[in-house]
Amino acid sequence: MMQATVREVAEWSGAEGIRSYSDESDNILTGVSTDTRTILPGQLFVPIQGERFDGHDYVQKAVDAGAAAALWNASIPTPTDIDIPFILVDNTLNALQALSVGYLNNGLKAKVVAVTGSNGKTTTKDLITSVLSTSFLVHKTEGNYNNHIGLPLTILSAASNTEILILEMGMSGRGEISLLSSLAKPDVAIVTNIGESHLLHLGSRRNIARAKLEITDGLKPGGQLVYYGDEPLLAEELAALNLDKEIKLITFGENSDNDWIARYIRVTAEGTQFSVAGDADTSYTLPVPGRHNAVNALAAVAVGRLFDISFASIGEGLKSTKLTGMRIERSAAKNGATILNDAYNASPTSVKAAINLVAELSGYRRKWIVLGDMLELGTDEVELHGEIGRYLNESKTDYVLLFGPLSEQTYREATLGFREGNVLHFPDKDSLAEYLLEHSEAEDLVLVKASRGMRLEEIVSILQKGA
Ligand code: ATP
Ligand code: MG
Repeated sequence: MMQATVREVAEWSGAEGIRSYSDESDNILTGVSTDTRTILPGQLFVPIQGERFDGHDYVQKAVDAGAAAALWNASIPTPTDIDIPFILVDNTLNALQALSVGYLNNGLKAKVVAVTGSNGKTTTKDLITSVLSTSFLVHKTEGNYNNHIGLPLTILSAASNTEILILEMGMSGRGEISLLSSLAKPDVAIVTNIGESHLLHLGSRRNIARAKLEITDGLKPGGQLVYYGDEPLLAEELAALNLDKEIKLITFGENSDNDWIARYIRVTAEGTQFSVAGDADTSYTLPVPGRHNAVNALAAVAVGRLFDISFASIGEGLKSTKLTGMRIERSAAKNGATILNDAYNASPTSVKAAINLVAELSGYRRKWIVLGDMLELGTDEVELHGEIGRYLNESKTDYVLLFGPLSEQTYREATLGFREGNVLHFPDKDSLAEYLLEHSEAEDLVLVKASRGMRLEEIVSILQKGA
C-alpha cells in the first residue's frame, strides 16, 4: 500500500496546508482508509461526506484505531483536542482521487489495465489477473471497489513494487467511467459487453455503449482498447467518437471477424473448455462454467498476449483462476443436489446467459432454475421480465421457481412453455427453498440467480443447511 510522508500526501492531494502542533511533515503514512471500522495504525484517514453521514464526525474513532493523519475539509474547524496532522483540502473526495493519481505517478509506476462493461467486469478482471500473475506482480480491485471512491482506494492499496494494476470500472450513468479512466490513465482498456443494466438511467443500449466507451477518455495515447466485437453498437459508437489520439483496437468474440475468436466451447458444471482460432492446438480450461465465461477468458487471452505472455502460461493462468464469490459458485445442497449460485447480480443478458448454461449442461436427472427480480431496468422492467419468461422452455430446464413482484410477469409468460405445475411463483424465499428441498434430489441441478437487492443467496444457504 501507499507509503508516503505527510508532506507528499499534502502535495499529491492538492492541500492548502497542514495543521499540526509540531512538525510532523516527514512522518510516514502507510496506507489510506475511509472507514474507521477497518482503519489500521499508521494510516491516513480520509473522511468522506455522504448524504447521511459525514466522516469528519468520526475522526476520534479513526485516531483511537491508530490513524496517523487525516485529510480534512478546510471549511470545517479542526478538533483542537486531537493531535495528528490535519491535511487541509477543499473537498476530501477530490483530494482522495488526486492523492491516488499522485501515488500512481510518483510511487507506483505500474502499467494500468482497466475493465468495464455491463456484465462480466469482475469475472474478466479475475481472469486477467490470473493470466498476468503468471509473469508479473499484479494488484487488482478487490470485490467491487470499482467506483469514484473504490478505485482510488484500490490504487492506494497497491504495493509500490506492483508491475500491473488491474482496475474494474463501474458506473450507473454518463461521465462516471470518463472520470475513473481520466484518473487511472489506462495503458490497456477492456469493454466486456453491453447489456441492459442501468437502462433506467441511460435510456437505451446505445447510450450504455457510449457510457462504456468513455473508458477511451483517459486511455494513454498509443494504448490498446480490447472490446467485445460481437456487439455492433460498440464498433458503431467507437467510429462515431472520432478519437483524436492513436489507439490500437483489438476485438474478441465468437464471430469470425474478430481478432480473437473462441471456438469449440464446451461447458460442464465443473467448468468450460474452449480453443482460440489460429491457436487450435491449445485447449483452454476454466474452473467456472458458462459459454459467456469462455468469451470473458478470451479477453484475458488477448490482454495476456499484449504483455507477451506465452499461450502455455495463459492456459495455466486461466485454469487456476479464483473468481470473486457468487459468480456461478458451485456447492451441494443438503439433499445432494448440485447448486450453481449466481445470485450476485442479474440483468436480462446475464439471466439469458445463465439459462443457456443450464440448457447446455447434461448428466442431471432434472434441472431447476430459481429466479428473482432483475432490478433497475427502468420503464421496460415488466416487459423485460416477460421476455425472460418467453425465453424459458422445457428444452432448457425442467422447472422454474420464481420470487419477487416483477417475476410474476416471468411467471405469466413462462407458464405457456411448460407443463402445468412446473413453473411456480412463491410469496417468500423460505417457502421457495422448502419446496425445492422437498422436491429435488441428489442427481438434480439447481441454478439460483437474481439482482443483488433480492438476496437470493439466502435460498442457497437454506438449501445447503437443509430446512
Ligand atoms: P457488477 O456491475 O455488479 O460489478 P460485473 O460486470 O462485475 O457486475 P460479474 O460480477 O463478473 O459482472 O458477473 C455478473 C453476472 O453477469 C454474473 O451473473 C455472470 O454470470 C454474468 N456474466 C458474466 N460475464 C458475462 C457476459 N460476458 N455476458 C453475459 N453475462 C455475463
Ligand atoms: Mg463487478
